[in-house]
Amino acid sequence: MSDCLFCRIVVGEIPADIVLRNDDVVAFRDINPQAPTHVLVIPTRHFATLQELSAQAPELTARLVDGAATVAADAGLGDAYRLVFNTGEAVGQSVFHVHGHVLGGREFTWPPG
Ligand code: 5GP
Ligand code: ZN
Repeated sequence: MSDCLFCRIVVGEIPADIVLRNDDVVAFRDINPQAPTHVLVIPTRHFATLQELSAQAPELTARLVDGAATVAADAGLGDAYRLVFNTGEAVGQSVFHVHGHVLGGREFTWPPG
């Protein structure tokens, strides 16, 4: 059994509120949402970080970003959403299976904290 939390969500060992699934990508609602829409988009294959994913699987990286755009469109966000990849513990990555946060439905400030 994988000890990766998000790999376990991919195979259904841990329940999640899944909003999009295909062979390459799974998207599910964040358990601790920071905005009215807060969905995590992940590749079904395990890569720890965006660095690893983009270096080893550029086409899958594109499909992941495409999945994020689909999630945003399905949530009715139009082109007003934020896509965040925390990359590295120092900037807040806590789960080391690469994931994009699709955030929307409220005002955002810049720069981020
Ligand atoms: P990170 O801090 O790595 O960028 O984001 C990890 C995200 O995963 C956090 O926003 C956290 O709320 C979310 N998360 C952690 N454990 C679970 C879980 O078991 N289920 C779901 N749906 N989200 C989780
Ligand atoms: Zn994993």
